[in-house]
Amino acid sequence: MLCPPEELLQKNQAVSNSWHRYRAEPSFESFVELAVSINSFTEFLIDKGIVALHHASHQLEQVTLALFNREVVHPLPQTALDDLSERVDALARMTHAHAMATAGLIEHCQDTHHPSPASVRVGQTWLIAQDRADWAGLEAQLGYFGMTAGFITWDQDLPDSAGVAPLLLLDMGSLPETEWRARIQSLRQRFGMGQLICLGVRSDFEQLQQALSGGCDSCLLEGTPPHAIIEHIMELNERHEQEAYRVLIVEDSKTASHLIRRTLQENQIVSEIVNDPRQTLNALKQFNPDLILMDMYMPNCTGVEVARIIRQHNEFLSMPIVYLSGETNVALQVDAMRLGGDHFLTKPFNPVFLNTIVMSKIERYRALRRSMYHDSLTGLLNHSSGKNTLDMLLSGVTHEGGFLSVVMMDIDHFKLVNDTYGHPVGDQVIRSLSWLLKQRLRKHDILCRYGGEEFLIGLPHTDAEEAYAIVDRIRRDFAQIKHPYRDTHFLATASGGIATYPLHQTGDALIKAADEALYQAKRGGRNRIHSCDD
Ligand code: GH3
Ligand code: MG
Ligand code: MG
Ligand code: MG
Repeated sequence: MLCPPEELLQKNQAVSNSWHRYRAEPSFESFVELAVSINSFTEFLIDKGIVALHHASHQLEQVTLALFNREVVHPLPQTALDDLSERVDALARMTHAHAMATAGLIEHCQDTHHPSPASVRVGQTWLIAQDRADWAGLEAQLGYFGMTAGFITWDQDLPDSAGVAPLLLLDMGSLPETEWRARIQSLRQRFGMGQLICLGVRSDFEQLQQALSGGCDSCLLEGTPPHAIIEHIMELNERHEQEAYRVLIVEDSKTASHLIRRTLQENQIVSEIVNDPRQTLNALKQFNPDLILMDMYMPNCTGVEVARIIRQHNEFLSMPIVYLSGETNVALQVDAMRLGGDHFLTKPFNPVFLNTIVMSKIERYRALRRSMYHDSLTGLLNHSSGKNTLDMLLSGVTHEGGFLSVVMMDIDHFKLVNDTYGHPVGDQVIRSLSWLLKQRLRKHDILCRYGGEEFLIGLPHTDAEEAYAIVDRIRRDFAQIKHPYRDTHFLATASGGIATYPLHQTGDALIKAADEALYQAKRGGRNRIHSCDD
C-alpha cells in the first residue's frame, strides 16, 4: 500500500519535466505530452491511494484539459502560463513533503521474510468507534489473519505512531451523521496516503454521499459481517500488488522506439526495445512482455512476418500484437490483422490513444492468463500451473543449492462442513484458508489450490524445520477463525504434510512425500502438521 518515496518523486518529476519541455518549446504536441504526463500522475496517485495529492493533481489536469479547445494557441497567454506554473510547482512541493513523510515509515516496514503481522502490506490498521465491544468479533478475526488493529474512540486522537498511511476502519454508526463529513475530511487531510473505510453506512443516497464527499475510499454497508470486511481489506492489498505492465517494442528506428518508450513510461508501463526484428524471439523469452508493439516496415522483414513467426509458438499464441505504421491503406491493415495482429495504430500516433489501447489490451490479456493459470474461487495458481511453477523453482534451487520445502495442506472433515452448512459456506471456508496463506507467505513462495480443499505450498530456501514453524502457525490461526453461519459460527481445522529438497529430488517425489506426510497427520488425529523427515 505504501508507495516508495523515490517512485512517487520520479513520477512527479515526469510532470515537471514535461512542463519545462513545453516552456522551452511551446507547441500543441508538447502540450499534449504535458496533459498525458499529468493524467498519468493522477492515475498513479489513485492507484496508490494517495488521495490528498490526487485532488491537486486532478485539478491541474482539469485546468489543462480546459485548454484543449480550438481558440487556444501556443504558447498560452501569460496568465494561463502563470497559473499552470504555480500549480505544477505546488504539486511538486506537496509531493516532496509526502515523500519525505513516508521515507521513514517505509524503512520501518521493509521485511522480506515471512511477515506475521500484515503491517508490511497494509499500513497500520486502526479502528475508530465508540464502543470497542461492538467490534470484538472483527478484531478477533483480523487477528487470525495476522492483522492487529489499534483502537481509539471518536474523542481520541490517533498517535503519531500511526504513521502517514494507516488503514482506518471508521464506525460511522456511532457518530452523528451531521459530523461525518468534517470528521472524514480531517482524517483525510492528516492521512493523505491512508485508506479510509467507512463501516456501518446505510445504503441510502444521503449517507453514502456524506461519507464519500468527505474523502473516504470506500463504504461498507450496515450489517457487513467481519469476514466480508476482511475480504475487502485483502482485495485492497491485492490491487496494490499488481506488477507493472510490460511491452516489447519491435521497431527498427531508434528514434521512434525511444519516443514510444517515453510515451509508455508516462503510464508506468515498462518496455524493452528490439531494433533488430531477428532478436524478437529471444527478447520475448527473456523479457516476458504482456504485449508487442510491432513496426510494420523494417529492413529484412515486415512486422507481419515477425508476427507469423511469433504465432508459431504455442506460448505466444494469445500475446497481443499491435502494429504501428504510417500505413493508411485500409486493405493492407486488414491483411496485417488477419495475419496475426490484434490492432493497428497509424503513425504519428496520439500518445493518449496509444496508452489507452495498450493498457486495455494488456488488461484483457492478463485476465485471460489469470483464468488460464489461476483458480477462480481463490485466485491462487491452479493445479497444473502450481506443479509447473514448482518444477521451475526446483530447477533454480538445484542450480544454486539450498533447501526447498513442499507442503500439502488439506482441510479436515471438509465433507462434513459441506453436508452441515452447504456448499457455498464450504467455499467460504476454502477462501479463508487461501486468504490466510496469501497473507502469510512471501511473494516468491508457491501457493496453489491443488484440489478442492487441498493446497500445495512451495517454500524456497526453507528447510523442513522452518517450514514446520511457518505452516504450524498458519494451522493454529486457521483453527481460530470463526466461520459465520446464519446467526452463529463454526470452526474448521486443517492438516499438513511437509517434504523437503534435497531429501526428495523431483517435483513429483516432493508432492508424493508431502502427501504421505499429510496422510500421517490425518491418521494422527488431524489439525496437525507432519514432516516426512520425522
Ligand atoms: P479429511 O479430513 O480426511 O480430509 O476429510 P474430508 O472430508 O475433508 O476429505 P474428502 O477428500 O473426502 O472430502 C473433500 C470434500 O471437498 C469432497 C468434495 O465434495 C468437497 N469439495 C471439493 N471441492 C470443493 C469446492 O470447491 N467447494 C466445496 N464447497 N466443496 C468442495
Ligand atoms: Mg520501420
Ligand atoms: Mg479434507
Ligand atoms: Mg482432500
